[in-house]
Amino acid sequence: MQTLDKIADLRRDLDTARGQGLRIGLVPTMGFFHEGHVSLIEAAVHDCDFVVTTIFVNPLQFSVGEDLDAYPRDAEGDAALAAGAGCDLLFVPLPGEMYPSGSESVLTSVSLGPLAETMEGRSRPTHFAGVATVVTKLFFLIGECSAYFGEKDYQQLAVIRQMARDLSAPVNVVGCPVIREPDGLAMSTRNVYLSVEERDVAPVLNRALSHGAVMISDGERDAERVRTAMAALIDEAPVGTLDYVEVADPGTLEHQSVCSGESRLFGAVQFGRARLIDNISASDVSGDDDFTRKEVTAGNER
Ligand code: AMP
Repeated sequence: MQTLDKIADLRRDLDTARGQGLRIGLVPTMGFFHEGHVSLIEAAVHDCDFVVTTIFVNPLQFSVGEDLDAYPRDAEGDAALAAGAGCDLLFVPLPGEMYPSGSESVLTSVSLGPLAETMEGRSRPTHFAGVATVVTKLFFLIGECSAYFGEKDYQQLAVIRQMARDLSAPVNVVGCPVIREPDGLAMSTRNVYLSVEERDVAPVLNRALSHGAVMISDGERDAERVRTAMAALIDEAPVGTLDYVEVADPGTLEHQSVCSGESRLFGAVQFGRARLIDNISASDVSGDDDFTRKEVTAGNER
């Protein structure tokens, strides 16, 4: 595996790979790899011939007061995990390479519409604009490829899918399942911020969503009752402050009043310094056990 930090070198290597007829895979990340990141690289390696993983902690998607400066980094550990997963090229640009005149001087943004206005978009108003800018840059830099994103950030995946479609990006956007710890907690770089007590309690987010999914699979059609039950479970936890729980259409992410057809359940909770998000499909549980999580097993088997 080669590690590059200059756009010109990345383009040269990609030209060579394309000249050899190789199918390119792209895995955009902010680094500090865990099994979730590794699963994306493995999926790309499975489908493609030349896999580029990017590590860039993108200042544009953090707002003032968020954890940009504290964001964990581990260049050596990341390189070892990426190489082990079969990545061909690790692209790790410095901010000056991506934003030569500083990120504050970037004036162009993609208008994203309603998909980016709910949930994370409401809690972090500049977040998706920053994500869209860096992902658009990566799509321009890499060109025709399949790009792998985790369902862990389901709303981000939906926004990027829509953006790629609307702008005719030559990119096949591929969603990959959430990888979880054995107790159901979705793997996340930000889990390292959790204290021992917060780490103990944090799986309540997934348990609450699973409980909501069981209610729906048991026949509950009133989405507000599902939201209320999920919020109550989180509120009962000794630590953690609920930001939101939502029951939404999995395609449009529109708030549902009635759970008819497909539903996706979302939640965000602040545990100390860690703001954690999670989501599951209402069909990811079987109705017979309150906290059954088909997705946990499926995720950990990847
Ligand atoms: P990040 O480095 O946190 O920006 O994440 C990079 C990519 O990894 C994004 O597409 C995330 O959705 C994905 N990802 C992060 N955590 C997980 C997880 N637990 N399971 C699957 N994908 C994940």
